[in-house]
Amino acid sequence: MGKTEEEIVSAMGERYDVMLHVYMEGIEEETRSVSGLTGGEGYRLMKYEEKHSGGLYPRAAARAMGIANVNASMGRIVAAPTAGSCGILPATLISLAEQHHKGKEEVVNCLFTASFIGEAIAENASLSGAEGGCQAECGSAAAMAAGAGVELCGGTPGQAADAAAFALEAVMGLVCDPVAGLVECPCIKRNAFGTVQALLAIDMALAGIKSIIPADEVITAMGEVGRSIPESLRETARGGIAATPTGKKIAERLTKSSDPHFPS
Ligand code: SF4
Repeated sequence: MGKTEEEIVSAMGERYDVMLHVYMEGIEEETRSVSGLTGGEGYRLMKYEEKHSGGLYPRAAARAMGIANVNASMGRIVAAPTAGSCGILPATLISLAEQHHKGKEEVVNCLFTASFIGEAIAENASLSGAEGGCQAECGSAAAMAAGAGVELCGGTPGQAADAAAFALEAVMGLVCDPVAGLVECPCIKRNAFGTVQALLAIDMALAGIKSIIPADEVITAMGEVGRSIPESLRETARGGIAATPTGKKIAERLTKSSDPHFPS
């Protein structure tokens, strides 16, 4: 890229700053989406978690949905790797950093680990829901978060690769089926589940559980599965959740709405 190490670290630091900002913003209030279809999921889970002391998993999941809520309201997020899956990586890493008292520099270093896993998936499979289904978006984000999280917790590169493999295997074949073509339903909740998958993958790898299939083979398999997913289940909003009776009704209502974002 013709950039110095200092410039690259500084650019990653700027992304971290945006992630941290949206991480806080997403759970502060009931952010509504532009369509009105979703909003406040992250805020509500966080309030529930505070009342019931649910711990790291629901707290991180609330933050992931809060970030996805901000995305659906057209707020500023970091696509990591995509806008639809933007909550998983920051919610996982920043929640873990909070738990283990890690600072910005350590999280930024781990974002490079996440980037390399994302790059390997982009090169050998896909990061796009339209190409590979949601396994390529939320699955890749979970794999990136899992690998980076292992590093943040002091694990080895081998454990990071194992955690990435676990997270991808967990969602192998997951389709992309957004209701009305909007990145809201089921996307926002998939960010919550992707975060919990990443956290569990981290714990499993750190516990010494090995991936039977090497991470690079899992990535290649994910790409092959993605190519075999029918077009109706690759971001066309013609299958899966989008094609349920309720999903279709919502799409019809939004299309007929006088809202300028949904011209009839
Ligand atoms: S369902 Fe499709 S649009 Fe929604 S997050 Fe997954 S890949 Fe992205």
